[in-house]
Amino acid sequence: MPNSSIDKNRIFRIALTLPLNRLFDYLAPEKIDLDQIKPGIRVRVPFARGEKIGVLVELAEKSDRDSSSLKQISEILDEQPLLNNLDLKLLRWTSQYYHHPLGEVIMTAFPALLREGKHACLKQDKYYALTDIGKSLDSRKLQRAPKQKALLEFMQSFVSTASTKQLASWQDNWRPALKQLLIKKILQETNQPASSTPKAKEIIRTPEFATNPQQQKAIDAVCHALGRFQVFLLEGVTGSGKTEVYMQIIQQVLARGEQVLVLLPEITLTPQLEERFRHRFTAPIAIFHSKLSKTQRLESWLQMQQGKGSILLGTRSALFTPLTQPGLIILDEEHDNSFKQQEGFRFSARDVAVVRGKMLNIPVLLGTATPSLESLHNAAKKRYQLLHLPDRAGNALAPTIQLMDIRNKKMQEGLSEPLLAQIKQTLAKKEQVLIFLNRRGYAPVLMCHSCGWIVRCHRCDANLVIHYGEKILRCHHCAQEQRLLQHCQSCKTGELTPIGLGTERIEKALQIFFPHHQTIRMDRDTTQRKGELEKQLEKINSGRADIILGTQMLAKGHHFPNVTLVTMLDVDGGLFGIDYHAPEKLAQMIVQVSGRAGRAEKPGKVILQTRKPDHPLLLSLIHNGYSHFANSALAERQTAQLPPFSHQALLRVLAVDKQTPQDFLQAVVHLIQEIDNPTKVLGPVPAPMAKRAGRYRFQLLLQSDKRQDLHYLLDFLIPKIEKIKLAKKVRWSLDVDPVDLF
Ligand code: ADP
Ligand code: ZN
Ligand code: ZN
Repeated sequence: MPNSSIDKNRIFRIALTLPLNRLFDYLAPEKIDLDQIKPGIRVRVPFARGEKIGVLVELAEKSDRDSSSLKQISEILDEQPLLNNLDLKLLRWTSQYYHHPLGEVIMTAFPALLREGKHACLKQDKYYALTDIGKSLDSRKLQRAPKQKALLEFMQSFVSTASTKQLASWQDNWRPALKQLLIKKILQETNQPASSTPKAKEIIRTPEFATNPQQQKAIDAVCHALGRFQVFLLEGVTGSGKTEVYMQIIQQVLARGEQVLVLLPEITLTPQLEERFRHRFTAPIAIFHSKLSKTQRLESWLQMQQGKGSILLGTRSALFTPLTQPGLIILDEEHDNSFKQQEGFRFSARDVAVVRGKMLNIPVLLGTATPSLESLHNAAKKRYQLLHLPDRAGNALAPTIQLMDIRNKKMQEGLSEPLLAQIKQTLAKKEQVLIFLNRRGYAPVLMCHSCGWIVRCHRCDANLVIHYGEKILRCHHCAQEQRLLQHCQSCKTGELTPIGLGTERIEKALQIFFPHHQTIRMDRDTTQRKGELEKQLEKINSGRADIILGTQMLAKGHHFPNVTLVTMLDVDGGLFGIDYHAPEKLAQMIVQVSGRAGRAEKPGKVILQTRKPDHPLLLSLIHNGYSHFANSALAERQTAQLPPFSHQALLRVLAVDKQTPQDFLQAVVHLIQEIDNPTKVLGPVPAPMAKRAGRYRFQLLLQSDKRQDLHYLLDFLIPKIEKIKLAKKVRWSLDVDPVDLF
């Protein structure tokens, strides 16, 4: 009698979080029905002296290793797969494309608690229903308790039975009203979910305006493509109503019973969009980003994975969340570099989103006012369909942009006199002012007044930044801190003077110039604590802040209707970047920051302080607009044969000494010479910041006209690099399609 288990797939290939590009073979546990086992489940396995959680990727008959040495799976954690075949296919593709170990890639698709082996089950929902009293009660009777009245109306008009989840997505802070209605016997708890869930269409609240023709065209184009793969690039000027377009498309997707994945570049943008979505949709919305608790992230992930969530709103880490009924992927502010992970697994959420859309056969919508050059290039090649919203929505007008020449002007703490006068005028009209400076801290340099000595970070090629509030000097590259010095450590006598401007310094100055107005500073230092950002946004939107001062956090997507004056204190810094991406980034920044001005009825004005009022980039941008700038930037890239007209990968190496990284990269260069490949090899060269956090950094840039050639080379190279002797003495990483060369 043949033993049936022999021809069965008894080898489990497991993905583990390890920096090794392979799967790990284990023997199936005894006494299990192998027919019930599907890839995508989690398992617990013995590893070294401990245990690890991994994911079953494949079942195989044989192992390449001696099967007597194989260990057995300790425990199977899931009955049903958490990832389906398409999820696994996408993760495999991503691992291959970015040349990042498959195990790490697969494990990043999971929220932390699942990686740690926690049970994959959603908290049990409670359900509430109207009592007979509740069904017939006139809601006006609750006039004096507006929250209770709203809840009653919600129940009466929409759902009659609602789960805690639905209530949570209906409104924040709904529990007190619920409690009261339970006490008053207007509502009761029930263990019965609503017999039929209401159709998405019935539970969408309509906006109070009609879409304009351009919006409608964009909506129709995308809706026409539902159910198949197509990429759209929605280029809409700031305030053109892109979000409205998203919402109307989402509505159609929900009506088809499908789910939508919405990705944003920044956590700071989620509260605002979440609120707009909750206001529009009663369908369950899940949120996923790194500032949520582990439990919250687990809940959101499972909600989508089990098909209980309709919309997932998240940052780049949400991209791999499994969906049961995928219908559409939206990526807002697609030009934003935050979509590219800059450490570890360096993937581009934008590019992988497009691949995911293709695998799932659903449309992908990329929206922005300032498209990346890559996306414009893809649109020009007809790979993406371009949709335009050339005008601001409603009655809002495009802001006027003015270059303010500050050469030889009297300056006070970075603010020129004419600028101060403009701020004063705006405040007098009870309108808000937004001041942008892309540098945190008090001042970037602390210098000795008598000998010129500067306080440097001893671990980086960088100055320490003054943080007066905390009375410390901090390195913005390695987070090294020291107490604020009073005297020069070189000449021992000289006084130390802060040079240059940071947001903290401007904030102090504004408090002196405008003592009767409220200034709010928004940067990474002031928004770190949980809930702080929401508080600040609330202050701005309720009009309790007059001047909003901040870093690039402000440049992105915020909608502040009462801001009419926007100013960038220093645009010159961005004009001289060494990276070829610098002009594109500066142009995007200027347009995005300017876009915060005059978004409602009142017209907006933008003032850019500069000492280079004749700079061609600034002039082209202001007189001809972003598209014109982008086209000439693309033409320049083509002449120089830079991306997107070629393809790059950057090999970064660091070590405690200067020599080893160079020797290591030389060894890599030798490897490359072993095969015939047209890829250009540039370097080894020191990184733009050659020393950082006590490590010396060098890099090698690989560039090909054809993507295929580059990846052919990488496929050959990476396994060999791992075997270079010096590889153990350095830390190296590969960045495919780098968005900056640092
Ligand atoms: P964007 O995302 O392109 O910056 P938003 O979607 O935030 O723009 O829209 C800007 C403002 O215009 C919002 O207050 C929005 O409610 C409003 N709006 C959008 N579409 C219309 C429309 N068709 N008519 C009137 N107002 C609109
Ligand atoms: Zn000195
Ligand atoms: Zn440092």
